[in-house]
Amino acid sequence: MRKPIIAGNWKMNKTVEEAKHFANEVKIAIPSPNEVDVVICAPALALSTLVEEADGTDLNIGAQTMHWEKEGAFTGEISPYQLQALGVDYVIIGHSERREMFAETDETVNKKVKAAFEYRLTPIVCVGETLEERKAGDTEAVIRKSIERAFSGVSQSDVEKAVIAYEPIWAIGTGESASPVEANAVCQFIRNVIKENVSEGVANRVRIQYGGSVNENNIDDYLAESDIDGALVGGASLQALQFLHLLGAVQRVNNY
Ligand code: PGA
Repeated sequence: MRKPIIAGNWKMNKTVEEAKHFANEVKIAIPSPNEVDVVICAPALALSTLVEEADGTDLNIGAQTMHWEKEGAFTGEISPYQLQALGVDYVIIGHSERREMFAETDETVNKKVKAAFEYRLTPIVCVGETLEERKAGDTEAVIRKSIERAFSGVSQSDVEKAVIAYEPIWAIGTGESASPVEANAVCQFIRNVIKENVSEGVANRVRIQYGGSVNENNIDDYLAESDIDGALVGGASLQALQFLHLLGAVQRVNNY
């Protein structure tokens, strides 16, 4: 049985004070970690405060990107070594906004995935196709390439510990989401690629999230699908009450 994981991706939102306030509102009401892993991926500025606020609670804190080097002359970057030292647990790698606007490629994603494991961070590795690629029937080819490159040279046991987020680019921040059935089909395809390249056991155990306009009205339908193990949520993760409602999806789906 794969444990669901619900992660908020705040993107470039919230001041440090606002982040602190949010953590205080949600941390007491988070469902048990036996049921669901809960992560907030915050702007780098807020990580230190959030790690402190989350200490001793079931809230996990993640970064939204990082460099692959330990340290050095990389102005503006943060490193896996710094994140580990701070007590951060997760890091989003290869988000489509980083790929589109900040020159992230499958090759840099691969370096970052390896670096994350070296520093005991859990990478949330994002893959997804554009609308043009979907219309051209290229979704599977695009996803296969991204998955194979992201995990090239990564050990079986590390692939198993990774979290994969399937985020069709046309569904991010647009209000237009892939249907649960469509999303599940791609998550199944990702599992098949892992099975071919790694092993059947790892393919069955690795957790795959769906992301792209997930909200309180549709999250239950995604989580009810066979191969979707959680969600990576942007806009709907910004309000504490709304985020708590999303977390409740795991219980609601289990009680069906
Ligand atoms: P969205 O963002 O939920 O606002 O569509 C998802 C993401 O980019 O991870």
